Amino acid sequence: MSKYQHLYVVIEHEDGMPLPVSLEMLGEARRLIDGFNKKYSSDEKVVAVVLGHNVRKLCEELIFYGADAVIYADSPELRYRRNLIDTKVISQIARSREVVAEFSDTSEFVKPRYMFFGADSIGRHLSSTVLAELESGLASDINKLVIEDLEIKHEHKTKGQAMMYEKTLEMYRPDFSGFLWTTILCLDNRNPAIEREYHPQACSIIPGVFAPIEPDKSRRGIIVEYVPEFDERDLQVRILDRKIVKSAVDFDSHKAVISFGKGVKDSPEQNIKLVSDLAKEIEAEVGISLPISKKLFPVSQGINSTYMIPDRVIGTSGRKVAPLLYIAVGISGAMQHIAGMKESGFVVAINPDENSPIKDECDVFIRGRMEDVIPLLLEELRKQRPTIQVKK
Ligand SMILES: Cc1cc2nc3c(=O)[nH]c(=O)nc-3n(C[C@H](O)[C@H](O)[C@H](O)COP(=O)(O)OP(=O)(O)OC[C@H]3O[C@@H](n4cnc5c(N)ncnc54)[C@H](O)[C@@H]3O)c2cc1C
Repeated sequence: MSKYQHLYVVIEHEDGMPLPVSLEMLGEARRLIDGFNKKYSSDEKVVAVVLGHNVRKLCEELIFYGADAVIYADSPELRYRRNLIDTKVISQIARSREVVAEFSDTSEFVKPRYMFFGADSIGRHLSSTVLAELESGLASDINKLVIEDLEIKHEHKTKGQAMMYEKTLEMYRPDFSGFLWTTILCLDNRNPAIEREYHPQACSIIPGVFAPIEPDKSRRGIIVEYVPEFDERDLQVRILDRKIVKSAVDFDSHKAVISFGKGVKDSPEQNIKLVSDLAKEIEAEVGISLPISKKLFPVSQGINSTYMIPDRVIGTSGRKVAPLLYIAVGISGAMQHIAGMKESGFVVAINPDENSPIKDECDVFIRGRMEDVIPLLLEELRKQRPTIQVKK
């Protein structure tokens, strides 16, 4: 038996309804652990971790989606997310032998082998504080995972000796504007001068990247309750009121979305106006790439507060959309953006650079500057409008 066992998946939910990223993580965890158990002839588990209030039904559902075991903590104090208390309870669960004893041999158990969190605003924060508490490393915004035995030779980690690291989680993340991959490893220090362990090997996972498995209501698993210990200091942060703010941006009821990116740079005010005119003409909602929300360009206050806002961001850091028509204007096609629009029915890109990755993601690539292309599109649409109305 190993000191490190199982893959723990920290589940996010809204009053018992799992967020899609939670089911996606479970799906990927299931695929990885099935491969792991086959390769190493072992019986390690996918363990879902749930904090909340009245979450028993959710726990059952998580088993249908691939968990072998669910560890849950149920308390009115855990109904809404508060980082301080969540960090404490998840860290307690991760170190608890008693709960693991319900589904495996714990004679050697110290901590989980692997751990997943969602790479959204809650999961990114929580993963960093939990891993600090568990004294291990964290790779953030991961979108590919592989478990491998690797031979590593490293000046500090292995004191320059080639050593075999078994069952290593290779965590891939898009970097350098989303066009290159970095592989992150969380390895024990085996150099005697700085020897120490680094477990769990943990990461936050980009929403929308992995597919959940088909739920199977005949799957059986073990549900274990963990009774958390709070003290007064943990409850210092109180939620007095909670409002779900409805966004003024409405991607769901529009059949078309037109998004713009840094390609507006030459004359931002006029170019955004062109995008807005085209959106009105085809009754589309307007989206943006992430850098636009950082207010990079000098524009009037109206344009600024209407368009350069986080609610319009499409991609892993924003919304996932699936309209019938998606038009990407001045967007290069970084994988974080593509993850948010790849379910669209028909994709048009307007871009002067034929080597932009968006070309591989669209059905029609219009090579040209938006300043030249959009006025022509508007002219043609306006010409055709009477015909379209007669056909209606
Ligand atoms: C952790 C993380 C999360 C991220 N999340 C997101 C996310 O959710 N969403 C997102 O979008 N990005 C995200 N990013 C950023 C992403 O990696 C890219 O940097 C970003 O998408 C690039 O934005 P862009 O396409 O607008 O700009 P650029 O990559 O600079 O592309 C601009 C494009 O405009 C074209 N262009 C230039 N002039 C014109 C013109 N006159 N007319 C038309 N086209 C023109 C250029 O040829 C180019 O292809 C994330 C990055 C990280 C590290």
